[in-house]
Amino acid sequence: MIGNRHAVLLSAPDVGHLEQEYVMAALRSGWVAPLGPEVDAFEREIADRVGVPHAVALSSGTAALHLALLGIGAGPGDAVVVPTLTFVATANAVAYTGATPVFADCDPATGNLDPALLSGLLAALSAEGVPVRAVLTVDLYGFCADYERILPICDHYGVPLVEDAAEALGSRHHGRPAGSYGAAAALSFNGNKIMTTSGGGMLLTADPGLAVRARHLATQARLPAEHYEHAEIGYNYRLSNLLAALGRAQLRRLDEMIERRRALRDAYAKILAHVEGVRLLGGDDPAANCWLTSIVVDPERAGWRARDLAAHLAERKVETRPLFKPMHLQPVFAGARTALSGAAELLFRDGLSLPSGSALGDSQIRRILDDVTEFLEGRG
Ligand SMILES: *Cc1c(COP(=O)(O)O)cnc(C)c1O
Repeated sequence: MIGNRHAVLLSAPDVGHLEQEYVMAALRSGWVAPLGPEVDAFEREIADRVGVPHAVALSSGTAALHLALLGIGAGPGDAVVVPTLTFVATANAVAYTGATPVFADCDPATGNLDPALLSGLLAALSAEGVPVRAVLTVDLYGFCADYERILPICDHYGVPLVEDAAEALGSRHHGRPAGSYGAAAALSFNGNKIMTTSGGGMLLTADPGLAVRARHLATQARLPAEHYEHAEIGYNYRLSNLLAALGRAQLRRLDEMIERRRALRDAYAKILAHVEGVRLLGGDDPAANCWLTSIVVDPERAGWRARDLAAHLAERKVETRPLFKPMHLQPVFAGARTALSGAAELLFRDGLSLPSGSALGDSQIRRILDDVTEFLEGRG
């Protein structure tokens, strides 16, 4: 659990009887030791769902990003372009490989990587002879990055794309599922994501060699010998069989959970429709999984700030959260190279994620909507 200070949480795990059944069945089967048939089945089912040939179940989304980057050869001396508006795991995974993140700003409409800035940045890096190993896109809050524009730019500069789809399982972009873009993609099953294994992730790829390599590195790079034989440094990154069982139950309920999040987003859209200076980040994209619904408040036009609504809701024990603090403002990445437009800083200042979880009950949802309406009427 995220903690119970708030009566209404931002995005709490949504688990019930089906999950209990699956986990108990896995326990009773005797496959408690790390790997087992649930892991194999979970990998197959996720691969089918996303329409990608290979899936490797891992202990976290961060591990999936790390192995995806290692799989395309990222290492010391390489630059990797990362959107500045993201969760720190995206940039950390780059740092784990020894490569250097270069932070690019976002499209203010979605918070996703700005294709025009990316194009200029790759031109500059290429002119300087900086080796760019990857463009690591993020599908922020469940809204796919603009792959129609980003992929041709990557192709033009011969730079592979890696997709951080940690927040976007179940989303689509022009009909194509999130997690199917690029040389490899990462999903997360952390407790607050669209579906959870309590903690876990998945690497997705069409490249069989990359999948084999990721599996090898994730199991301490153990070579097939009866004694323990290792020729390189590996990691302990595999997902346990019990958690894969939880994931399989969640996957069966994924569409229903997405529908609940979408209905909640629609309800927010309705009460905010005629409010001056307020918009939904990502707009009206029917193909998004609606993982988090976030608003952007223009303080001049609205006459109030996002943090005023946050304070109003906090008093009523309703949890909200600012958008991610951009990576280029984080002390840990001070001094990193950037290509900025100011969009991410504005979204950080003016954005707010509202409770979006699929586990919220009807009466909780009514309460949140009433609390928001009460705030708006007080300001109107
Ligand atoms: C959650 C998240 C991750 C990391 O996933 P974990 O499973 O928590 O390691 C990476 N990137 C983004 C954008 C995320 O939201």
